Amino acid sequence: MAVTKRFVYFFGDGKADGNGKMKELLGGKGANLAEMVLLGIPVPAGFTITTETCMFYYDNKKKFPDGLEDQVDKAMAKVEKSMGMKFGDEKNPLLVSVRSGARASMPGMMETVLNIGLTEKTIPGLIAKTGNERFVYDAYRRLLMMYSDVVMEKAAGVETADGHGIRHQLEAIMDAKKAERGVKLDTDLNTEDLKELCVSFKKRIKEALGKAFPDTPREQLLGGIRAVFQSWMGKRAKEYRRIEKIPDEWGTAVNVQAMVFGNMGDTSATGVAFTRNPSTGENNFYGEYLVNAQGEDVVAGIRTPEPLSESDKMEGSQQVSLQKGMPKLYKELDAIRKNLEKHYKDMLDIEFTIQEGRLWMLQCRVGKRNGVAAVRMAVEMVKEKLIDEKTAVMRVRPDQLNELLLPMIDPASEKTAKVLAKGLPAGPGGASGKVVFSADAAFDAAAKGERVILVRNETSPEDVKGMHAAQAILTARGGMTSHAALVARGWGKCCIVGCAAAEIDYKTQQMKIGGQTIKAGDVITLNGTRGVVYLGELPLLPADPSQNPSFAGMMKMADGIRQLGVRTNADTPADAAKAVVFGAEGIGLTRTEHMFFEGDRITPMREMILADGVDARREALAKLLPHQRADFYGIFKAMGPRPVTIRLLDPPLHEFTPNDEKSVKETADKLGISAAAIKQRVHALHEANPMLGHRGCRLGISYPEITEMQARAIFEAAAMIVAEGGKVSPEVMVPLVGHVNELKNQSALIHKVAKEVMTEKKVKFTYMVGTMIEVPRGALTAAAIAEVAEFFSFGTNDLTQTTFAFSRDDIGTFLPHYLEAKILPEDPFSSIDQVGVGELVQFGTTRGRSTRPDLKVGICGEHGGDPDSIDFFHRTGLNYVSCSPFRVPIARLAAAQAAVRNPRSEAKAKAAKKAAPAKKGASVKAPSAKKAAANGAAPKAAPKAAAKKPAAKKATAKK
Ligand code: PEP
Ligand code: MG
Repeated sequence: MAVTKRFVYFFGDGKADGNGKMKELLGGKGANLAEMVLLGIPVPAGFTITTETCMFYYDNKKKFPDGLEDQVDKAMAKVEKSMGMKFGDEKNPLLVSVRSGARASMPGMMETVLNIGLTEKTIPGLIAKTGNERFVYDAYRRLLMMYSDVVMEKAAGVETADGHGIRHQLEAIMDAKKAERGVKLDTDLNTEDLKELCVSFKKRIKEALGKAFPDTPREQLLGGIRAVFQSWMGKRAKEYRRIEKIPDEWGTAVNVQAMVFGNMGDTSATGVAFTRNPSTGENNFYGEYLVNAQGEDVVAGIRTPEPLSESDKMEGSQQVSLQKGMPKLYKELDAIRKNLEKHYKDMLDIEFTIQEGRLWMLQCRVGKRNGVAAVRMAVEMVKEKLIDEKTAVMRVRPDQLNELLLPMIDPASEKTAKVLAKGLPAGPGGASGKVVFSADAAFDAAAKGERVILVRNETSPEDVKGMHAAQAILTARGGMTSHAALVARGWGKCCIVGCAAAEIDYKTQQMKIGGQTIKAGDVITLNGTRGVVYLGELPLLPADPSQNPSFAGMMKMADGIRQLGVRTNADTPADAAKAVVFGAEGIGLTRTEHMFFEGDRITPMREMILADGVDARREALAKLLPHQRADFYGIFKAMGPRPVTIRLLDPPLHEFTPNDEKSVKETADKLGISAAAIKQRVHALHEANPMLGHRGCRLGISYPEITEMQARAIFEAAAMIVAEGGKVSPEVMVPLVGHVNELKNQSALIHKVAKEVMTEKKVKFTYMVGTMIEVPRGALTAAAIAEVAEFFSFGTNDLTQTTFAFSRDDIGTFLPHYLEAKILPEDPFSSIDQVGVGELVQFGTTRGRSTRPDLKVGICGEHGGDPDSIDFFHRTGLNYVSCSPFRVPIARLAAAQAAVRNPRSEAKAKAAKKAAPAKKGASVKAPSAKKAAANGAAPKAAPKAAAKKPAAKKATAKK
């Protein structure tokens, strides 16, 4: 007998076919509903149709699989039994909701239909049962509005012009009714009004859509299920998935659940809560509710809800908290909150409804939180012994740390700034920008590089693109769980909601706020941490994470777990000092060329480039030397004993030459040479392909005096520090080496200068000489190069450029199309191409260590700050990554997460942890003559055998 696949999973009455672990199949909502039922929490009975069914639907020309309808009927019978009501029954009708529920939460992106089961036949029964005719007709008009919009129009693919859809038409009818009655609120309409509205709605639906509203419960139900499947491929759901990187293939589940009503009078209510505060992370019960309302009213932001707890009441407000208004139910809810946190060991976001004094839980899921809250919760949950440290470090997305490092408004300027209004602080940080009143305007302005603040009454999922493009979001309505707040929090974007003082007029494109009229294009500033709106632009200050104890706690845990060192790329003493505050364990790259643009150094630099012969060049270099020495001294001072990798001059010389008439003339005047001579030299330096031209170590080989000057500046600065009793660990790095002979040439020079300086200054210091591996030949011949190099640092910017043969400077001409067409999964200059460029990193590391087992290997390309790339470098066995100062905390956390996911073996970890001090003097291991003669080819040492060698005594780590 053929076994029919299971498409439907029941939950209710303390029993469930699924459980909380089945998110892939049942979606987050379905799995958690099952889990709550199993925990004995009151949940209205229902069933979940699997995500696989959704994918079947799309793979089979949008058809339901055989057996689905039968399984739905059987599950419905169980729901009926559990709730003591019958779907479609004339006397005791059961109503159900139909909701989407993907594996990952996609707030508001897909469709929901409520009150399914209300028909001409069931209406009288429900009125008799509830004794509340107004409530029943209100539920019916909601069903008519939602169903015609979601099922009969959107899911059926009926195209309407913007603002002319059926929902809009029905809303216009309702507004006309309110105007006729002289009332403002929906709740002011009486039973007769609603009855009349329902008749008009059905008439309009038939006229507009050419079909009558279905009057059988089963047809309504199947239409609702189909509409949820359809909404998975809706425009806004697809857009959201693209931003959040959620695969299209996951599909959504459908949850059909018995309705309970929060709009049955003053003993009914509905609300949303978080088991801890999702903005600050504080361990208090945080949420909002509305008396006599349905759930959609809270999330849609149409009425501003009241707080759950007394402590969250706005100062001086008339609000009534649930704690005060319904103390018994608050207690019951609080007990469920504690039970759920204990079980899930995480902060949860819950939805509940109170129907005539009885509490029902409708949803629980791991709650979205901003970075500040994520860090605090994780650290405090470890203290509370709810989770261990490894779990805690996995709880924060590395990029979320940005929010702790976010710019804040300068508090001094806030004291004197004009406050326009206050609202709810939904997303932290500060932001200034020009006001725009539509998501499209935000998107277009941001595309032109403008900074804008999106101002709306409330946002809806259609606005997601514009919200993403804006610097910050301000809404007049809605609470901390409104669409704007949820979405902004997910992105860690500055956001203020519920700013009732803002009276927005979309037609005239202006808003009245705090006694001012702000037009589109006027600048305002938001303090999203405190919920304050200011007039004009206020200065922003960089964040100071050192003031946040949770941040320090999180970093401490991450440092205890990670096995990969984290350094920084810094070119100035100030950047170096900043990076040390952020936890950098050394410098992985100082680009010396940046120093030549400081102050008036460009003149001797140009003199050096334009010099006629070695002697003139040396003379110009002598003028540069003191500047470089001072720079290096400052950097060494800032870094103390930490290793500092300084790279010799890398870019082609024409980058420093004057390139317009004015600067040619100025240079000619300053240097006392003719403009014609300068132009001739500039012409001579011109290259068709500068990225592949006279740059990197090729410069130092052609002009050894440049390398000598730079090495001297480094070592004299080191000598000064040593003479003062300080410690230094300079690491001199030669760029763009592809052949071992290039490195031999340069390292011989460097060692010669080191020796000279030690003799002249009568001091000893330790240092290393190594190379960047940033061209494929360097990686392929790493075994030979490692015989000379004491360390490797992968320059993955150039390595990506040279492996793909993609010009770093011209990528904008074709990469966007490559990404759009999915030819490449992502920008390989942002996240390392693991199977291509990464293979060279892996190969180069293994081969390098085959001849020098204690070879220290790092990476200093932009990928050093990218969490996915960091995970790869961890697995590849690198000693450290190096990234910009602001990304150092992110890299520390990403490295810890990589270690949790794939702990390195004991021996490897030990090797990586042991710090190898820079070697003494000019002690370079003598290269094997035979291998060196092999023209840089990799010797045949088996990488595996090399990897098995005992960990090198001088292996380094976290340096
Ligand atoms: C690299 O190529 O990865 C690198 C760090 O050097 P640069 O970006 O200066 O070429
Ligand atoms: Mg490079």
